[in-house]
Order: sequence, then C-alpha cells, then structure tokens
Amino acid sequence: MKKRLETVKDRIKKVAGTSGRNPEDVCLVAVSKTMPAPIVREAIEAGVTILGENYIQEAREKIGILSSLPVSWHFIGHLQTNKAKYAVKLFDLIHSVDTLKLARELNKQANKINKIQKILIQVNIGEEASKSGAFVEDLQYLAKDISLLENLSVKGLMIIPPFYNAPEKVQPFFSALRELRDQIRKAAIPNVTMDELSMGMTGDFETAIEEGATLVRIGTAIFGERT
Ligand SMILES: *Cc1c(COP(=O)(O)O)cnc(C)c1O
Repeated sequence: MKKRLETVKDRIKKVAGTSGRNPEDVCLVAVSKTMPAPIVREAIEAGVTILGENYIQEAREKIGILSSLPVSWHFIGHLQTNKAKYAVKLFDLIHSVDTLKLARELNKQANKINKIQKILIQVNIGEEASKSGAFVEDLQYLAKDISLLENLSVKGLMIIPPFYNAPEKVQPFFSALRELRDQIRKAAIPNVTMDELSMGMTGDFETAIEEGATLVRIGTAIFGERT
C-alpha cells in the first residue's frame, strides 16, 4: 500500500511539473469504497489525508471506527435526499450535488447543525441519461440558485466522464469542465468560488491534471482492485 501510494504521489508530482502546475495545487482523494476500516487505517498511516467514500451507510461505519484519525472525508457517490442529514454530519466536502432539491435539503440539514457545508456541483457533460450530474445548460442557474442557500458554499465542479480506457478520449470532457469552471467564475456569483475541479481516476488522472484538476479521486491505484 505504502509503495503504491508513493507511486501515485510521484506520478501526480511528475505530471504537475510537466504541465507547469504546482504539485501542491493537486490534492489526492484516496477512494476507499468497499475497503474495510483496517485497510483504510493503513492508508492513513501511510500518509493519505483525504478519503473519498461513495455510500453513506458504509462510510458511517468506517468513519465511526476511524474518527480519531486526522483525515478529511469527502463524499463522491450519488447522494439521495433522504441521506443528506448523514452527509452533512460526516463529510467536509460533498462532490456530487446535482439538483436544487438535493442542495436545499443539504442546506436545511447543515443549518440544523450550524455548519457551512462545502460542495461541488457534479456536471453531466456527455448528457448520458444513465448518469448523475447537472446538464451544462442548467449549470449557471443551478449555481446561482445554490449560491442563495446560506449554509452551502460552492467550491467548484466535479465530473465522472463516460468510461473510456483511453485517456485521450476523456481529455475533451476534462477541458470542457475547466472551461465551464472559468465561465462560472467570470459570472462572479457571490458565495461561489470555483477553485476546485474534481476530475481524474486511476485510468486517467494524469490527463485530468494536465487539464487543471485540483482534486483527483484515486482508488484502484492505491488500494488495488475492488472485489
Ligand atoms: C470509485 C470511484 C473513483 C475511483 O475509481 P478508481 O478507478 O478505482 O480510481 C473515483 N470517483 C468516483 C466517483 C468513484 O465512484
């Protein structure tokens, strides 16, 4: 694990260097879905500082066990409105907000516990019917509507591109997300900062970094294949 983690960190540093970016502007989110608490603990001891989880129930159990450890938890999976209550209690950043309905519920729950919940808006650039994510044409309005919710703070955008084995095929999705980020930034919506671009997984994170990723979500390259 330690060795795999070091290899991933080296690859991040290397591609940040060759694409003229500061390696410190690229944060590694180690995606620990399906990995049991002892393995996640090992990752934290090996130097992981941010963990990404996809399922609320699974995350509740793990975070309960590992709560004394100095690590930040991010939610990256599809979030059902009825789980918003748990999400705001458990996670520092929620990457996958894609509807106003979900945002309103998160706002309500964050208000109850006196928290400003940081979120990203997930975008569905390919407009695949099967996928979560806001459509591009709705994005500006969604960002504006969410910006009015006082207990949410919009930090950027997230994408899960259509699955391709070839990084050159996902590259246009990553650059499109960066351009959308820049457009929303230009609109200068109060309470919306757009500093973060969550994109890139095991198969394509180097391409994502070249295109401006600030959060790469990597599971398999760190933990090995999920069963
Ligand atoms: C599982 C998952 C990842 C990590 O995928 P790997 O290919 O194992 O690196 C990243 N992002 C999301 C949203 C995921 O569900």
